[in-house]
Amino acid sequence: MKTVIKTFPILILLSISSFITICAEFDIRDDAAFRKLISPDAKLEKLAGGMRFTEGPVWVNADGGFLIFSDIPANQLKKWSKSGSLTTFREPSNNANGNTVDRQGRLVTVEHSGRRVTLTENDGVVKTIVDSYNGKKFNSPNDVVVKSDGTIWFTDPPYGIKIEESELKTNFVFCYNPKNKELKVVASDFDRPNGLCFSPEEKLLYIADSGKPRHIRVFEVTPDNALKNGRVFCKIDKGGPDGIRCDSNGNIWSSAGDGVHIFAPDGKLIGKILCPETPSNLCFGGDDGKTLFITARTSLYAIKTLVTGAVK
Ligand code: MG
Repeated sequence: MKTVIKTFPILILLSISSFITICAEFDIRDDAAFRKLISPDAKLEKLAGGMRFTEGPVWVNADGGFLIFSDIPANQLKKWSKSGSLTTFREPSNNANGNTVDRQGRLVTVEHSGRRVTLTENDGVVKTIVDSYNGKKFNSPNDVVVKSDGTIWFTDPPYGIKIEESELKTNFVFCYNPKNKELKVVASDFDRPNGLCFSPEEKLLYIADSGKPRHIRVFEVTPDNALKNGRVFCKIDKGGPDGIRCDSNGNIWSSAGDGVHIFAPDGKLIGKILCPETPSNLCFGGDDGKTLFITARTSLYAIKTLVTGAVK
C-alpha cells in the first residue's frame, strides 16, 4: 500500500539566513520502519544553490566538522560549514566526483579528468594514490569508499571521458591496497558501476549500476577482499541509482530520479524522501552524524534523520 504524504509546497524563507526550508514530501511504503528513520516533522533544507552539477558529499570531522562535495563541471571542490558559509575548497579539482575519508580522517577523492584516486594529506598536499591498471589509464573514477583495513574500493565508469578514450575498454570495480600497492579487479560485469558502500560489519558490499540495469547489487566480501555470491539487491523505480550509503542499521539509502530511496536490509523499499532536484549522491554527517546531506543537480540539501551512517 502506497501512502503519499504531501505537506505544503511552500518555501519558507528563514529571515536570519539564506537557508530555505522545504516541507519534505515523503512517499512512505512501510510506515513503522520509515518512522524509525525520519521524524514526521523533519524538513528538507536547501543549504546552497547556484552550482552546476553537485556530487560526492563527505562529512569531515576536522576543525569542528564541515562538508566537502564536488561541483564536477565547475571543476571545484566545495566546502560547506555549519555557519552556512559555502567556499571553494579546491580549484581546479580535475573534475573531482566522489569523496570519502580514510580511517585517519584524510580526504580521498576520485577525479574524472585526472583519471585517478587521490589522497589529501593533513598539510593539504594532494597525492596520487593510483591512476592506472596494468599500465592503462582508468576511465574516470566515479565513487570511492575506504574499508576499515585501509583498502580503497572504487568504481570506474566512463562518464567523465569520451567512450573512445577508454584504454581499459571495461568498467571495472577496483580494490586497492595502499600497504602492498596491489590493485585488483573485484567486479567486471557492471554496465556503469557507480556508488558503493559497505554494510556496518563490512561483510557485504553494495554497488549501484547506473547504466541499463538501474539496480543495486550486493556481494559478500571474503576475508581476502574478493566478492562472491553477488545478487540484485533492489531495483530503482524512478531514474537510476547513483551515490548510495548504508546506515548503522544496515538500511541502504540511494539517490534516484525523484529523491532518496531507502531500502531495508532485505531489499524492500521503506520509503522515499522526495526532492525538488534529482539527487546524485548523499552522506551522513553533522555534529551527531544524523544529518543526511544530499547533492542534487545545482544544489545542496539536508534533512535530519534518526540514524547515523554505517561508518561514523
Ligand atoms: Mg556517482
